[in-house]
Amino acid sequence: EEKKSISFVEQIVENDLAEGKNGKRIQTRFPPEPNGYIHIGHAKAICMDFGVAEKYNGICNLRFDDTNPTKENTEYVENIMNDIKWLGFNWGNVYYASDYFDKLWEFAIWLIEKGMAYVDEQTSEQIAEQKGTPTQPGQPSPFRDRPIEENLKLFKQMNTPEAVEGSMVLRAKLDMANPNMHFRDPIIYRIIQIPHHRTGTKWHAYPMYDFAHGQSDYFEGVTHSICTLEFVPHRPLYDKFVDFLQEKEGQTEYRPRQIEFNRLNLTYTVMSKRKLKALVDENLVSGWNDPRMPTVCGMRRRGYSAQSIRNFINSIGYTKFDALNDYALLEAAVREDLNKKACRVSAVLNPVKLIITNYPEGQTEELTAINNPENEADGTHNITFSRELWIEREDFMEDAPKKFFRMTPGKEVRLKNAYIIACTGCKKNEAGEIEEIYAEYDPESKSGMAGADRKVKGTLHWVCAGHCIKAEVRLYDRLFSVENPGADERDFRELLNPESLTVLNNCYVEKFLEEKQPGDFLQFQRIGYFTPDEDSKPGHLVFNRTVGLKDNWAK
Ligand code: ATP
Ligand code: MG
Ligand code: MG
Repeated sequence: EEKKSISFVEQIVENDLAEGKNGKRIQTRFPPEPNGYIHIGHAKAICMDFGVAEKYNGICNLRFDDTNPTKENTEYVENIMNDIKWLGFNWGNVYYASDYFDKLWEFAIWLIEKGMAYVDEQTSEQIAEQKGTPTQPGQPSPFRDRPIEENLKLFKQMNTPEAVEGSMVLRAKLDMANPNMHFRDPIIYRIIQIPHHRTGTKWHAYPMYDFAHGQSDYFEGVTHSICTLEFVPHRPLYDKFVDFLQEKEGQTEYRPRQIEFNRLNLTYTVMSKRKLKALVDENLVSGWNDPRMPTVCGMRRRGYSAQSIRNFINSIGYTKFDALNDYALLEAAVREDLNKKACRVSAVLNPVKLIITNYPEGQTEELTAINNPENEADGTHNITFSRELWIEREDFMEDAPKKFFRMTPGKEVRLKNAYIIACTGCKKNEAGEIEEIYAEYDPESKSGMAGADRKVKGTLHWVCAGHCIKAEVRLYDRLFSVENPGADERDFRELLNPESLTVLNNCYVEKFLEEKQPGDFLQFQRIGYFTPDEDSKPGHLVFNRTVGLKDNWAK
C-alpha cells in the first residue's frame, strides 16, 4: 500500500507525541455498536484507528459499544470480529462498554453526590420542549434542584425491575443556557427493561452514548479517540466528563482526546445501519452479505479483495468535510488489484455451439492456459480442446459490418490459447435463430507454433462442450438507482434499482473451475472479474460478477 502524505489526524498524533503527552503512548480503539454488520464506512474508521496505532507503535483495541440492549446481539459481535480480521487488522484487546456498567454507575453516583446530576420525572416530550433553541436558553426542569438524597434514592429505583421505561431519567446538571445544546442538562441514564446480550437482567438503567463513550476511553487509557464529524458538537461534553473523571481520581497526567474526520459516503448506496437492516429484514436483499450490499461481508462475497478496499480508502483520504465518493473509484481500485491477482479462465455466459468441421470427431487435446500474465509465478493450467465448443452468441454475426473483428463467415479469428479458425457458415432454426456455427481450424496455428504468428484481428474465448460445467452467473448493478439515496426525500425503498441483479442460468465454464472456492479471484477473460458464490454445490456452480473489466456505468 502506498501511503499518501500524512493525514491531519497523524499530524495531531505526532504533535502530541512531541509534546510528551500521555507518557508518549498511543492508544486507539475501534468502537462498533453490535447492532448490525460493518460496512465500508466502518472500514474507513478501521483503517484510521488501526493504521494510526500501527504507525506510531501503539495499540488499537476493539471495543463493542453495547450500551443499548434493544438493538444489540452476539451474532453481530462475532461477524464484526471476522470482518475486521478479513480486512487485515489485529486488535490488542477486546473490550465491551458493558464491562464498565459498574464504574459508570459509580461515576453517576459521584456526580449526584456532588450536586451535578438529578433525576428528572418528566416525559421526554416535556424535556425536549424545555431545551430551548441555540439562540434561546432552555427552561430548568422542576426537578432540577431536588435534594441529593432524593436523587440517590430515585436513581437506585431506576435500576430495578419495577422501574417503568420513560418514567425517570438521570440528567447531568450543567448549563441550560449554553449555546451548545448538548450542555443543556443532557440525559445520561435511562431505564430499559430488555435483557442485555452480555449482562442479562442485571441492569435496568443504562448510560447514554455521551456518558459511556469518553468514559470508556478514559477507563481503557485511550489517547486518541478518533470518530466521525457528527461528533464535533459532542466534543465539549466529552471533555467535560473527562474533566470530572480527572477530578474524581485526582490526576492530570492522562486524558483521552476526541478527533473527528469525514464519513465515507458512496454514490448509489446507503451507509445507515438502520436502512441496511431494513433491507435485510424486509427481504429486499438476500442478507447482510448480499453481494450488492456495501457491507464488508457483502463485498467479500462479491469478490472484492481486502487490499482493494484498503487502497480505495487510502486514496480518498481523511478530511474535515463530508463528501460523496464515487462508487466508480472503488471499482477502479478493485480492478487494479484483481488484475494482479486473478486467475484467467474461460466462461461463456450466453452460449452458442461452434463446430470445427475439420477436427476429428471424438478427438481431444490438452492445451496450456497461462493463469496470470501479470504474474508468471501463478503458473498454468490445462484446458481441453475438441471439435465442439461453446462461444458467446454476441461473438458471431452472419452479416457483419467491416469493423466487426469477431466471427463472421469468410473471416479468421483466433481462439484464445488454441488455434486460428476460419468461419464457414451457420445453421438457423425456423425462427431464424442461430443454432450452430461452423469453422475450420488451421492445425499449424496452435498458440506457440510459428503458424500462430500471422495477424488476426479478433481473439475469442471459448469452452470445450464436452469438458465444461454448467453454471449460474449473477451479474450485479448499483443497488440504488439514484446517486445519493441517503439525501433523497423519498423512502429509500422506492429508490432501489429493480435491475440490480441479473441471473444467467445457462452459462458454461471450464472444468478447472470446479475446484475454486468462494473468495478466489477469477477473471473470466474478456468479461470481468468473478468469484464462486457460497451457494455453489457440486454440479451447480454459482459465480458472482465482482466487477466488469471496464467501467461501463456511463454507457
Ligand atoms: P448507527 O447507524 O447505529 O449510528 P454507525 O454507523 O455510526 O451506527 P457505529 O457502530 O456506531 O456505527 O460506528 C463505529 C465507528 O465507525 C464509529 O467510530 C463511527 O464514527 C465509524 N463510522 C460509522 N460509519 C462511518 C462512515 N460512513 N465513515 C467513516 N466512519 C464511520
Ligand atoms: Mg451507533
Ligand atoms: Mg454511530
